[in-house]
Amino acid sequence: MTSSDTLNPSIHEEDLETAQSVTIKFLARDVGFSACGIAKAAPVDEEIAQKYRRWLENGEEASMAYMSNYLEKRLDPRLLIPGVRSIVSLAFNYTPAQQMPKGEYQIAAYALGQDYHDLMKRKMRELAMKISERWQIPQNENKGEEPLIRCFCDTAPVLERYWAQKAGLGWVGRNHQLIIPHAGSMFFLGEIFLPFEVDVYDEPMSNRCGKCHRCIDACPTRAIIPDEDFHAERCLSYQLIENRGELSDEAKSSMGDTIYGCDRCQTACPWNRFSTPNTEPSLQPKPELLSMSKEMWHNLTVEDYQRLFKGSAVKRVKFDGLKRNIKAKKR
Ligand code: SF4
Ligand code: SF4
Repeated sequence: MTSSDTLNPSIHEEDLETAQSVTIKFLARDVGFSACGIAKAAPVDEEIAQKYRRWLENGEEASMAYMSNYLEKRLDPRLLIPGVRSIVSLAFNYTPAQQMPKGEYQIAAYALGQDYHDLMKRKMRELAMKISERWQIPQNENKGEEPLIRCFCDTAPVLERYWAQKAGLGWVGRNHQLIIPHAGSMFFLGEIFLPFEVDVYDEPMSNRCGKCHRCIDACPTRAIIPDEDFHAERCLSYQLIENRGELSDEAKSSMGDTIYGCDRCQTACPWNRFSTPNTEPSLQPKPELLSMSKEMWHNLTVEDYQRLFKGSAVKRVKFDGLKRNIKAKKR
């Protein structure tokens, strides 16, 4: 069984008594994850480590200083969590069932519902609990002691897409997203660090982008350069969310109708034709959000913002940041 088979699994109860790896995937599916794979904890491959170092040396992380923090731990998970033996990579589908109406301002698909970090944390803890019960991993009850099984979703310096590829979930495409074959790229990723080795590890998945360049053609800011590093500072996701200063002129002229993030290199990807809408209640957009017209966005007050985005990932950009993005649009 490969990791992405969990999208269409054929796991039999009788396997569960003996096979650790299969059991973990069975439990992950039970909790609601779309895909699960397991890689042995080891230093990141030298080629990838060098590429990442070069990317930082070129200053490509722009103002995202956190990308350069804890570099050695990021490049070797055993330094991050001493005692980690296996890394379970997990994917949760966020393909939207409902979008902002065409012709109105757009918000990146991942941020239409409630903040995914809460959802991922809850789901991963549930899975970690099941794993720890099944293999009797002691939970550290003492305050101040870290649990032996650790869950991460953007909460630690972990190269999540690298580990997802290593665990056989998919490959990192030219658009720098993790592409899951026959499922697409609209997945939240998380990792569970285990303090034990498992019976079977997944094989890394090789890249299947082939000669395709649709994401490159679709990118309005030329942030994706073929066979080169990704230019984060040019990317609209960076400009409209992470950038705390003025928007670049390029961002202003190419943002189209988006006011938060950008999905163009994902929607252009042919693998997303296979995606299926998520049914997770917390990821569904509020009717009030879907009913926002351009006029209403331009008149947005702090109170409207707080009501619309309570518990949402859009809070990352703060009211002033969202207003900046809206003001960049001509009425
Ligand atoms: S998110 Fe948008 S701007 Fe960024 S690389 Fe993709 S298409 Fe380009
Ligand atoms: S659009 Fe094509 S090149 Fe880009 S990530 Fe998808 S398959 Fe790869």
